[in-house]
Amino acid sequence: MIAARFGLGGRRALVTGAGRGIGRGVAEALASAGASVTLCARSAADLDEVAAGIAAAGGTAETLVLDVTDAAGFAAALERRPAFDIFVNNAGTNRPKPLDEVTGEDFDAVIGLNLRAAVFTAQAVARGMVRAGKGGAIINMSSQMGHVGAANRTLYCASKWALEGFTKALAVELGPRNIRVNTICPTFIETPMTRPFFEDPAFRRQVLGKIKLGRLGQIEDVAAAAVFLASDAAAMMTGSALMLDGGWTAD
Ligand code: NAD
Repeated sequence: MIAARFGLGGRRALVTGAGRGIGRGVAEALASAGASVTLCARSAADLDEVAAGIAAAGGTAETLVLDVTDAAGFAAALERRPAFDIFVNNAGTNRPKPLDEVTGEDFDAVIGLNLRAAVFTAQAVARGMVRAGKGGAIINMSSQMGHVGAANRTLYCASKWALEGFTKALAVELGPRNIRVNTICPTFIETPMTRPFFEDPAFRRQVLGKIKLGRLGQIEDVAAAAVFLASDAAAMMTGSALMLDGGWTAD
């Protein structure tokens, strides 16, 4: 009986940054759990490939090619669609460098995508959820860096700590509508975003020294957590941060 609560049959899910990396893995997992998935990113070619893979596996997917920093374009695209039951607010970026080298352009890129776009995409999705009156689940892709600090990550940490605060406040606002809002907080996951960082053996050693489980995270680790948070298995969970950090923040 409990296993049935993890199922997502009949639900509509929207995933941003679904063309590659974590977003792609999350979209594929939601589809495999039964959700009909809308894949959003800027590259049509990436999205078509993910959608074809989902269809080949027996799932349902459509693509939505746009830049999530275009708040008006995103809101307009959602107005033309039925409301979503699940939103994975995943598109994000990082520009690791010491504070001394951070430029205004870096600030706008990291905060503009990780915070500003996250806020206004959630606003557009939540409007639809409230109008439909069926409740829903919003999952903001945060990071262990939303709970600790690290060198060369001032902007990234600022954006993810802000996303944690946004999540709690939105959970308070939308609780009465049965819309749950939570974050997922992964440690370093092997994806196209992080692959270049691990070409530096000293950095790899330093990271593995802090992950108590002794390995980097994999996309599947995040995908499984997203299915849980999206599903009725997490029906009593809102305003929370689900740590997937292999114990990084435990000491
Ligand atoms: P990635 O760079 O591999 O993929 C990011 C995806 O977002 C891509 O599909 C990209 O096209 C899309 N995207 C970027 N800018 C966009 C925009 N303006 N509009 C629409 N789509 C856009 O990144 P990833 O490693 O998969 O990271 C995904 C999320 O997970 C981010 O929020 C990141 O901060 C978070 N995260 C990643 C790690 C990690 O180690 N990889 C750890 C913790 C948290």
